[in-house]
Amino acid sequence: MDVFEWADIEMQVLECTKCVLSQTRNKPVFGQGPPDANIFIIGEGPGAEEDKKGLPFVGRSGQLLDKILEACNFTREKHVFIGNIVKCRPPGNRTPRPEEKEACLPYLMKQIDMINPPIIILLGGTALKGLIDPDAKITQLRGNWIEWNNRIVMPTYHPSALLRTPARKTEAWEDFKKVFHKYREIVDASHTSPHISV
Ligand code: SF4
Repeated sequence: MDVFEWADIEMQVLECTKCVLSQTRNKPVFGQGPPDANIFIIGEGPGAEEDKKGLPFVGRSGQLLDKILEACNFTREKHVFIGNIVKCRPPGNRTPRPEEKEACLPYLMKQIDMINPPIIILLGGTALKGLIDPDAKITQLRGNWIEWNNRIVMPTYHPSALLRTPARKTEAWEDFKKVFHKYREIVDASHTSPHISV
């Protein structure tokens, strides 16, 4: 990765005023993770805690995501880069509007390009619609691999949906187990977790 280009994009995001979310945000959330992550996780947008800290998934949803990742023996430091469809918090955590997603998407596409991960995880309907198809439904496509731009994409529920509807945790865990097995298949056959049999 060209670290100067990466730093340049980060600076563009930190100063970005391309959509109205720039008027109400505290800090843009550029994303977090190693530049050579093999898994790129995409959520919807920053919430209140993320907006305060400028980091992705640090509130209650983030804690749940961390538990799921830990169960797969994935870490933010080594395995996953985490970003969002929009980099600034929509007021009141409303769903990002089409023009906001459109304005922000080039940053995310550039990040995907530069990190070049073989596996992408989409958390929730906004991420699925924003990256793959505006008409796609998370309830229909979750748990199924999608081929996209020479990568494979696993849509699953957003952790906030799991907090609202705990019954969905079982399905989400099945989806993450598929990612675990795919990671072993195409990235590192020696990757193991005490929580998943191989
Ligand atoms: S959401 Fe994206 S496009 Fe809108 S101001 Fe923030 S960084 Fe810029």
